Amino acid sequence: MPELTPLEEALKAVMESVKPLGTERVFIYDAVGRFLAEDITSDTDKPLFDNSAMDGFAVRHEDIEGADEDNAVQLRLVGEYSAGTGEEIRVERGTAVKIFTGAPIPEGADTVVPVEYTETKDGYVYIKKEFKRGANVRKRGEEVKEGEVVLKRGHEIRGYEVGMLAFVNRAVVEVYRRPRVAVLSTGDELLEVGEPQSRPSQIRSSNHHMIYSLVESAGGVPHQLGIAPDDPEELRRVLRTCRDYDIFITTGGVSMGERDYVQYLVKEVGVDVKFHKLRIKPAKPVLFGTYGENRLFFGLPGNPVSCAIAFDLIVYPAIRAMLGAKEVFKKKVKAVLTKDYVRRDAKRREFARAKVWFENGKFFCEPHQKQRSHMLTSLVEANAYLVVYEGVKELKKGEEVEAVLLQ
Ligand code: AMP
Ligand code: MG
Repeated sequence: MPELTPLEEALKAVMESVKPLGTERVFIYDAVGRFLAEDITSDTDKPLFDNSAMDGFAVRHEDIEGADEDNAVQLRLVGEYSAGTGEEIRVERGTAVKIFTGAPIPEGADTVVPVEYTETKDGYVYIKKEFKRGANVRKRGEEVKEGEVVLKRGHEIRGYEVGMLAFVNRAVVEVYRRPRVAVLSTGDELLEVGEPQSRPSQIRSSNHHMIYSLVESAGGVPHQLGIAPDDPEELRRVLRTCRDYDIFITTGGVSMGERDYVQYLVKEVGVDVKFHKLRIKPAKPVLFGTYGENRLFFGLPGNPVSCAIAFDLIVYPAIRAMLGAKEVFKKKVKAVLTKDYVRRDAKRREFARAKVWFENGKFFCEPHQKQRSHMLTSLVEANAYLVVYEGVKELKKGEEVEAVLLQ
């Protein structure tokens, strides 16, 4: 039997082959889920001017010294500042301006007294509490100064970052390009969704749709190539298009069967194969190689669960790295196992479908009943993979285990 490649070695080969893609300028909404290829600096001081943090009265601190409930200070009201105001009033000694949150602090004033500590009557405001000089004033530049970096190159754009980009007057931003990923299922038995069944031996293909969506969720741009038969001529024709993509993914036809042609044909189209069999369970038949300039070829297994696991463990990190992400792997947690997990053969590292949840300060992990690699039910009812390391035959209830989260 040919040597099986350990997962770490396989990942090393994949990650060494990943080179960052070029960059492109996109509208900020289209930058979500992607990574900055430039430093973003602030266009102005933020805030741009001293402004009020409260609804209240802008005063001179010297006027309100010693003010309290029994000893209210009387100030003459000379105007009103709302957010966005164009008013220009000077607060002289003995006067105050009514002010709203976000409005600029009028000249002469240095402190804002919140409305709760005041009373107004006949054109006067009565201040019933002393506040420190500068209280309730947001100072110009206290958050960031003009030209200061607010988002570093490599930072992931989420909704919060879109807010920040708009705040510093950016509608367009430079991000890393998303990899173009071709997805192809292979197999004479496969039926497309909606296609009528003409022979009982045909099965509905799930893989190319599953992988398409997983690619998209990971941040890649999937291209659906559909289903190819187990026919060398047809397969060769489709595989030759690999140069149009950064990543080419096939499913099926990569195992030991006589009609498993992918492993031979990829060499014909110029793929330099780095490994073909992994020491993991399920998903042993996984082929990986490089072609062209920094392009990646993944031949994933036909069994849907194996296909998904191979994607999550091997392809997902490659897509994330191409996007410019620093953390490229699915997150792992330590969890308490809720029932025994036993297996006969401990040669390979196993990824058992499981449910993980958080309760009373701990994660718990329950392996799914159905663990066979053709059963998609185990995946749709799971949110994690329980990791059973090489050499481990049994994991006991109550033991601390490792789980890979599927999100
Ligand atoms: P293969 O690796 O081509 O020998 O396929 C292994 C198993 O996965 C077989 O039972 C196939 O019928 C099944 N299979 C292959 N491709 C798909 C697919 N696209 N969707 C669902 N099952 C598949
Ligand atoms: Mg097949």
